[in-house]
Amino acid sequence: EGGPPVSSNAPKDRFLGGLLVDGFDEASCLSRYQSVMFRKVSSYIPSPYLLKRLRNYEALHKRCGPATELYNKTIDQLKSGRNVESAECNYVVWISYSGLGNRILTLASSFLYALLTNRVLLVDRGSDMADLFCEPFPETSWLLPLDFPINQFSSFQKESSESYGNMLKNNVFANSGDGVPKGKIPPYIYLHLSHDYGDHDKLFFCDEEQLLLQKIPWLVLRSDNYFVPSLFLMPAYEKELHQLFPKRDTVFHHLGRYLFHPTNSVWGLVKRYYLAYLAKVDESVGIQIRVFETEPGPFQHVLDQILGCTRKEKLLPDVTLQEPIGLTAYIRSKAILVTSLNSGYSENIRNMYWENPATNGEIISVYQPSHEEFQQTEKQTHNRKAWAEMYLLSLTDTLVTSSWSTFGYVAQGLGGLKPWIMFKPENRTTPDPPCRRVMSMEPCFHAPPFYDCKAKTGIDTGALVPYVRHCEDMDWGLKLV
Ligand code: GDP
Repeated sequence: EGGPPVSSNAPKDRFLGGLLVDGFDEASCLSRYQSVMFRKVSSYIPSPYLLKRLRNYEALHKRCGPATELYNKTIDQLKSGRNVESAECNYVVWISYSGLGNRILTLASSFLYALLTNRVLLVDRGSDMADLFCEPFPETSWLLPLDFPINQFSSFQKESSESYGNMLKNNVFANSGDGVPKGKIPPYIYLHLSHDYGDHDKLFFCDEEQLLLQKIPWLVLRSDNYFVPSLFLMPAYEKELHQLFPKRDTVFHHLGRYLFHPTNSVWGLVKRYYLAYLAKVDESVGIQIRVFETEPGPFQHVLDQILGCTRKEKLLPDVTLQEPIGLTAYIRSKAILVTSLNSGYSENIRNMYWENPATNGEIISVYQPSHEEFQQTEKQTHNRKAWAEMYLLSLTDTLVTSSWSTFGYVAQGLGGLKPWIMFKPENRTTPDPPCRRVMSMEPCFHAPPFYDCKAKTGIDTGALVPYVRHCEDMDWGLKLV
């Protein structure tokens, strides 16, 4: 619980049960090995099979990554517009898109898809990806080279003729599946997997369509969703996924800690904040407040919800009007780390615990690293802070999150924490109950397909298997439990 970072004479496993490998230049990415001094040891152990597949992936990425002979060869093919020889290296290009929490979740999803399909994941750096994340794979780069020939990513949208969905719709692959001659298949295709995708795009989640995609060396993917749960519903990947993740609700926990290491500038924000405000307290509680309203707030119904939840679930003490008489030698301290675009909630809670004593005598401190007032997706320092705050939340002992927010999902997954999630208020009214404990620490897939690929009809994909359920915070979403 809490406490200062462990000193070096009490060594913790820097490699997170084999998730991480040695051989990186430590100074270039301090968080990779220092995070273990700030985080509690995870109680979830990655499977030996996952570790084996990660090592194989790293070798593949090194062989096929940017500036290799094989990479150059497939680029030549791509430029010529041909798709003839069986390519040795196949790729998924991830397009940088949407808020930072969304990006982290889609990147993890795309990596898992790459792992399942033996593809190499390359990352469009957008405005700030290289500034936020260290390279995760040794002796190579995951950043898409700037001279990559397809660069009209902004034109890749729902309506694009290059999208797989539209190609299916327009019958480009007349007798789809195995029968299509390779000459008719383009060297690259755009996969539109964001929330507004259509029925044809959703066929991505059908085994049969994957057979065709297998023949396309370059898949360019745009998504703002954690689409992992639907991969678990595909018979083609069932066995492999079960071997990779015998405990299914640990997918993001393991992949997240494998992939996402804050760069030194972000790590500085995390480390200094943690050491200044969280390291010395007995216990910490993270409260992530995300309000989806057009006005900035603060809103009374949200404050009532936060206090209602923490009181009902006994996460924070009540206050009393009675001043305690004695002064004990040892006073338990608890820090509340609030993240929110608005400063009103933490000010209110801080005042409450200043103006009144806690009934259990605890001393409560309240901290909020930033209040950026509104979402600014493209600004660099803004996203550095957002990433640092997600990370800080993941270091707390107990977590309270907001519905529908990927920001909170990232924190819970990295931290291996099952938060209490606050239900989304309707009509500016505090929901009753205000919150509940989640079933698992996995993120929610907000826009899953509801389609039975075999029967070719609609189906409730949240009722097919016991380990893919509807989410606590979104009736139609899917999550692994
Ligand atoms: P979501 O919209 O809650 O799912 O989370 P995203 O991370 O995808 O997008 C929200 C964006 O708004 C973040 O990336 C931040 O840029 C910003 N944001 C939202 N809440 C916070 C917060 O508590 N702190 C900071 N620093 N930024 C936030």
